[in-house]
Amino acid sequence: MKVYKDWSPSPRTIMTPGPVEVDPRVLRTMSYPILGQFDPEFTSLMNETMAMLRELFMTENEWAFPVDGTSRSGIEAVLVGLIEPGDKVLVPIYGRFGYLLTEIAQRCGGEVVALEKEWGAVFRPAEIADAIRLHRPSLVALVHGETSTGRLQPLEGIGHVCRETGALLVVDAVATVGGVRLATDELLIDAVIGGTQKCLSVPAGMAPITYNKRAEAKLQRRKKIERGLLPEGVSADAPATLRPIQSNYLDIGQLQDYWSPARLNHHTEATSMLYALREGLRLVLEEGLEARYERHRRHEAALVAGIEAMGLTLYGDPSCKMPVVTCVEIPAGLDGESVRAMLLEQFGIEIASSFGPLKGKIWRIGTMGYSCSKRNVLLTLGALEAALIRHGCELEAGRGVQAALDVYGV
Ligand SMILES: *Cc1c(COP(=O)(O)O)cnc(C)c1O
Repeated sequence: MKVYKDWSPSPRTIMTPGPVEVDPRVLRTMSYPILGQFDPEFTSLMNETMAMLRELFMTENEWAFPVDGTSRSGIEAVLVGLIEPGDKVLVPIYGRFGYLLTEIAQRCGGEVVALEKEWGAVFRPAEIADAIRLHRPSLVALVHGETSTGRLQPLEGIGHVCRETGALLVVDAVATVGGVRLATDELLIDAVIGGTQKCLSVPAGMAPITYNKRAEAKLQRRKKIERGLLPEGVSADAPATLRPIQSNYLDIGQLQDYWSPARLNHHTEATSMLYALREGLRLVLEEGLEARYERHRRHEAALVAGIEAMGLTLYGDPSCKMPVVTCVEIPAGLDGESVRAMLLEQFGIEIASSFGPLKGKIWRIGTMGYSCSKRNVLLTLGALEAALIRHGCELEAGRGVQAALDVYGV
């Protein structure tokens, strides 16, 4: 008989753009016993989680709840709910996750108008505003923090133009929520998708979303169609595009009923993940949103100072650098994967590679959530220096760590 041995993970310092390290307080809640999903105790956990998500997203929206599944389940739920076949969808793309929005929007039957920007840069909000006025889409889908290139897209003013032209604004804030300020209501964003395994420091497996009345109106219209009722102002010979939401699992209309006081049965809630998310949110709110953003900026500053002191070059336009992801150019002639392997095998530290046109060209170092600490930044810089020297790079040992210590005022 084959014996499958007991297993537990090797100790790791995770400095990638997700999944990142999880606070022991969150891990502990995941070992709590299961509650039935209609148990009043569980219901109050669900309600508290919604209240905390509203604070996280900086919104007064009635609806803020997690979709069960990884972050893209939230993206897919929002897009499949808000895009009707034939709808025009504008997607400004400046990295890999813009392509993901495009692909999902097309699968929902959306007619996508893609705006493309070279990788390493972002759009000026005015460029997006002009494109909205020109193309008159019914929905605009945009990434806030593009993890693939480490860029942060400014969103100011885009929401106003969407209101003016009647478009819905959907923002993928998977990589930024809880680490970089994103004021949903202030920016007039109609739907936001967050992630758990990035700046919230909760395991992957849920996608917190929020949406406002404008978005809900579209969902309600489709729900009436589902019930065979025609919404007001739509005649019986309505175009064939008026269809119910294609997905059952990701039907936000049904998910909303499940999270509403009616608690209409849909799927079985992911009990342990909800415990984890609630505790993760409690940690975020205990720290305070502004203090948390500030912590991410402080450790970013130390990391960047260390990287530059080593003589390495940061990738991309510095004016739109994402504070929680630092992209570093791999020096010419160096095998970036071999350096990454040495970091993992000798130091237990994981940094990320990259995809598409940047494959083999940059490393990506995350400073997110619980992983974003002085200890982790100093260890990563020290280990990277050592690994680079072992790979024959000429650099003065200790400079990176010293520069970071300077930033920390040690
Ligand atoms: C990580 C990420 C996603 C996808 O998240 P999954 O949890 O892998 O589904 C989507 N958008 C952005 C910006 C991300 O960083």
